Amino acid sequence: MVTSLNDLPIRDDLRGKSPYGAPQKHVRIELNVNENTHPIPEPVARDIIESLARAILTINRYPDREFTALRDGLAEYLGHGLTRSNVWAANGSNEILQQIMQAFGGPGRSILGFPPTYSMHSIIASGTGTTWIAADRDDNFEISPETAVDAIAQHRPDIVIFCSPNNPTGTPLSLETIAAAYDATDKIVIVDEAYAEFAPKDQPTALSLLPGRERLIVSRTMSKAFAFAGARLGYLAADPAVADALRLVRLPYHLSSLTQAAAVAALEHSEQMLAMVDDITEQRDRIVATLTDLGYSPWPTWSNFVLFGGVDEPGAVFEALLAQGIIIRDLGIPGHLRVSAGTRAETTAFLDAMAQLGRGPGPSQ
Ligand SMILES: *Cc1c(COP(=O)(O)O)cnc(C)c1O
Repeated sequence: MVTSLNDLPIRDDLRGKSPYGAPQKHVRIELNVNENTHPIPEPVARDIIESLARAILTINRYPDREFTALRDGLAEYLGHGLTRSNVWAANGSNEILQQIMQAFGGPGRSILGFPPTYSMHSIIASGTGTTWIAADRDDNFEISPETAVDAIAQHRPDIVIFCSPNNPTGTPLSLETIAAAYDATDKIVIVDEAYAEFAPKDQPTALSLLPGRERLIVSRTMSKAFAFAGARLGYLAADPAVADALRLVRLPYHLSSLTQAAAVAALEHSEQMLAMVDDITEQRDRIVATLTDLGYSPWPTWSNFVLFGGVDEPGAVFEALLAQGIIIRDLGIPGHLRVSAGTRAETTAFLDAMAQLGRGPGPSQ
């Protein structure tokens, strides 16, 4: 007996929806989901394996529900005077965002975001029964303090969520906008900083705004800069009371002993784990420069990917690259495609393929 989804007594608000996810196609060069394509250094991998091996010996017991060693490691990595009590972690920052919406959103409540942005923000809202409100950005995908404050005044959301640098555009967000948004509401403000490590190193992040702002939450992930996407480790920094709120909604023992052991060991080598970041930002800048020379219009980016316009037929370019074993991302933004910066060789293969496909519409010669 084969039952279809429509035959099941599913929640009315989920009826007709399709699951999120970029196609998981395994091809020669995968530059579609902003992973760090550099493998982790072998000495670090060996340390992680040893840490996992030790954890296995006590795997008959439930894990440390408070993941104390992990929070210590994350606090030390973040700096900014943060301690264990300011930090919370989950299985990817997607789960972090889900727990925040479970605790501060939910049925009858709303969350305000600024598309085009990370599509999981609205999907997690939907899954938690939180009403998603989309506000407009300014030109060039920017958000001025006035734009943010006006949207908050108009919609009075229970949560405001920013993404900085923004996925899929790469656009940075000023601290002035975040501070103004915070002052314009007495509710929760989230800054999703999944790509913070790829921003210029002299630029402050929203972590510097945390002191005195107990409703501000900065979420981070080990998936991107840390080359740890498969381990599923996201985290946040905030006032200790925020973690107390999330303890009310998290599943008990949500972070497995193996996840904790792997992440603690990786954090002990954060310098080596982050050594590829400079190489990745170099490849990103090369993509921007070369695509510009080819007549495309890449947007300024502070992350590990590039959104570029001037693509007449994004679907055709996507397919032509795929035929050569290169996968990038078509996000349905008219005239645009997004590509993640890979290793030097992967990036070269992508740029060579783009050059072969021909020129974009200008403005160069
Ligand atoms: C990739 C990404 C995440 C993260 O995901 P994990 O669940 O930590 O792997 C979060 N936010 C944005 C904007 C992202 O692009």
